[in-house]
Amino acid sequence: DPVAAEITTNAQNGTSYRPQTAVVIPRSEEIAAARLELPVVQEEQKIMEAIHNNSVTIVHGATGSGKTTQLPQMLLENGYGADGMIGITQPRRVAAVSVASRVSHELGTQYGKQVAHQVRYDSNVGFGTKIKFMTDGILLREIGQDFALSKYSAIVIDEAHERSVNTDILIGMLSRIVPLRHDLSKEEPKKYKPLKLVIMSATLRVADFLMNARLFKSVKPPIVQAEGRQFPVTEHFARRTQRDYVEETVRKVSRGHRKLPPGSILVFLTGQDEIQTVAKKLKEEFAQSNTGFVNSRRPAISSRPSNDYLEREEGDNDDSDVEITCLDDYDDAEDAEFDDVEPDPALPRKGPLKAQILPLYAALPSDQQMRVFKPTPEGSRSIVLATNVAETSLTIPGVRYVFDCGRSKEKRYDTATGVQEFKIDWISKASASQRMGRAGRTGPGHCYRLYSSAIYEQYFEDHTLPEILRTPIEGTVLQLKTMNVDNVVNFPFPTPPQGEQLAQAERLLKNIGAINPSDGKVTEVGQELIHYPVNPRFGKMLLLGLRNNVLSYTIALVAGLAVGDLFIPEPQAISNRNGIANEEDEDNEDQNALDSRKQAYGRAQKTLSAWDDKADVMKLLTAVAAHAQVEAGGTKAFCTEYSLREKGMSEVQQQRRQLHSIMQNRVKDPNQAGVSFTSSLSPPSQKEINLLKQLVAAGYIDHVAIRGDKLPNAVSTGRKPTRAGEVAYRTLLPSIAEVEIDRTATPGEQEEQRSVYVHGGSILARLSPHEMPDYVVYSHLSRRETAQGRNRTRMHALTSIGPKQLAALAE
Ligand code: ADP
Ligand code: MG
Repeated sequence: DPVAAEITTNAQNGTSYRPQTAVVIPRSEEIAAARLELPVVQEEQKIMEAIHNNSVTIVHGATGSGKTTQLPQMLLENGYGADGMIGITQPRRVAAVSVASRVSHELGTQYGKQVAHQVRYDSNVGFGTKIKFMTDGILLREIGQDFALSKYSAIVIDEAHERSVNTDILIGMLSRIVPLRHDLSKEEPKKYKPLKLVIMSATLRVADFLMNARLFKSVKPPIVQAEGRQFPVTEHFARRTQRDYVEETVRKVSRGHRKLPPGSILVFLTGQDEIQTVAKKLKEEFAQSNTGFVNSRRPAISSRPSNDYLEREEGDNDDSDVEITCLDDYDDAEDAEFDDVEPDPALPRKGPLKAQILPLYAALPSDQQMRVFKPTPEGSRSIVLATNVAETSLTIPGVRYVFDCGRSKEKRYDTATGVQEFKIDWISKASASQRMGRAGRTGPGHCYRLYSSAIYEQYFEDHTLPEILRTPIEGTVLQLKTMNVDNVVNFPFPTPPQGEQLAQAERLLKNIGAINPSDGKVTEVGQELIHYPVNPRFGKMLLLGLRNNVLSYTIALVAGLAVGDLFIPEPQAISNRNGIANEEDEDNEDQNALDSRKQAYGRAQKTLSAWDDKADVMKLLTAVAAHAQVEAGGTKAFCTEYSLREKGMSEVQQQRRQLHSIMQNRVKDPNQAGVSFTSSLSPPSQKEINLLKQLVAAGYIDHVAIRGDKLPNAVSTGRKPTRAGEVAYRTLLPSIAEVEIDRTATPGEQEEQRSVYVHGGSILARLSPHEMPDYVVYSHLSRRETAQGRNRTRMHALTSIGPKQLAALAE
């Protein structure tokens, strides 16, 4: 047994330590019996031997094998709770809270006593707490306060395969804390015991970075496997991939429910809104059709067009607009879809099943989350509609069928533009297989994928990229520095970001005054920014807004900038759109209609720039303020009139509320102007407008551009601008790589390639060329590739800035 051999070798490296006293836990018979079924409990001896004999242990077990609920209890029983707490981290709040209460229940204790949780703004940890579940962010903060983590005897990093930034940073930190505690336990054995670290993962992939990286070089951690019994799961790809996967989910699940033998259905969707929509539609569907026609050939949804997209399989005619209305139109292959599933003789079937629809997502109150763990009543079937939380964090018992929409909502970051957003995209193959595995815990199962195998092969990455490679890292770098990691480049990241990305982050932090330019240490400003849950550049704006008594405006601006992409561009003639038709296009719009739409657009833009006609950020603020005013009565008409994206705008208002409540926690005087939330924003004074423009510039200090013809050694592009969008600017920091410049071109052409230009959507683009300001500050740059080659690089969300303000910023 290679694992056992590994454990014995490691036992000799001096890291062996075990607590003296074991603890006996009186469990109820029912719970004791259920535990014994779990692979992690069956491997208890092997796991505990590894932990006793090593300072770092990796535990691998499939989802549902008992890692999260059982391992902390095993540590407690083996005496680890005596010299300090057992801390378990989770990447998600929902898991931290719900699992903590489950473990408390299994131990037969009152919740909040021996077992407790701590997440941001919510904790029931007390003096008697022995097992503490928390988010990884909470433990990171604690490391900042006490690097030796002296309150803890053991740390369990759960869900390490998710590769959240916080988990990655924690593993890097702990690779230094564990040896430190080892040394301390030799120097002051009374005060310090060695710290045990357990890293748990649902996939083995996590093991390769832990073994290879410079992380735990002296202590090669053993991997203990707790393989559960996994029954075979049959995978069914869809013949076609529907664009409207929410509708498709409703359709498939209701058909599946009617035809499939008993067993719970678990449906993966991307978020709360979708789950609520699907829940509502399924309820309507089942209420209407009294569930009684198992063998009926009537399609579940009587009439809807099917919008096939992305692919057309051979033999497919262009019948995508066929309405599924009656028997004849109906696809036989689909009708037979669920017929190959044999009923399980253990689950007798008497008549049609009633559907019990259970949503499961992070924001759902925990008592409602708990409903998925309750047994399904006789004669009904649970249909759980879940987000990614059900992929690995929570295990739902009794699932035999998984319906997977193949997408998830992920945080995305464009390293080129610095824009961060939540985006719905295809999941990875690894995630798809995790989701599929949920169907095989209690018996053979089936996984119905709402996408075709062609889509799966073509668009699904093998693994999800670690979060650190797809988020801005200024915040992470600042956090590392507050934990006294001065030389960030040498930090043992499990997956290191690029050196240039790190250097850029440090430069920005210096520029906004969060770290000291000479020694790189965190300043007082930096210490404050660490408490704001936004990128440090936005944090800097908030801090300045607070100091200058314009906080409520600043919050509105930061919320708008953080959500981003709120303005719909000016209407254009269809022929200008590269021939790509879109569902929203009106097909035969004549010139007059287009002209009148353009005029309406122009009028709306003028209204939005009433406060300031040289700053897009003020237009943004105007839009947010006006939107807040109409919010209560519905905003659809308003958003149409002003060409605003409605969904984004409502996110902005949500963010405003959140930021206000966070800032309230940060200020000493709660009566300070603008700290508490009021929905309405009165028009700012001219002085306030100037202040706001200046503080936005302070946050984007590395994003200043100067008119090319105002530079001391100006090179003319050789063209006289006739429109604002043709006025050439040069960025202070190089934004266009020199390698991209065509060396064979004339100096004027090269200058043009190096220049950046105002984006057409900016209100500055409505000025005449000579009105264009000398200095501007942009939020991000964009560039489009076209068939003719590279387009000009454009600056977005600008504000003009005077030379005096610029000088003030530099101080
Ligand atoms: P892992 O962390 O390895 O994925 P867990 O410890 O979360 O596994 O779950 C182990 C088992 O405990 C699962 O089979 C699950 O069904 C059960 N379980 C977990 N939480 C609850 C709960 N709140 N109520 C009932 N059963 C639960
Ligand atoms: Mg788990």
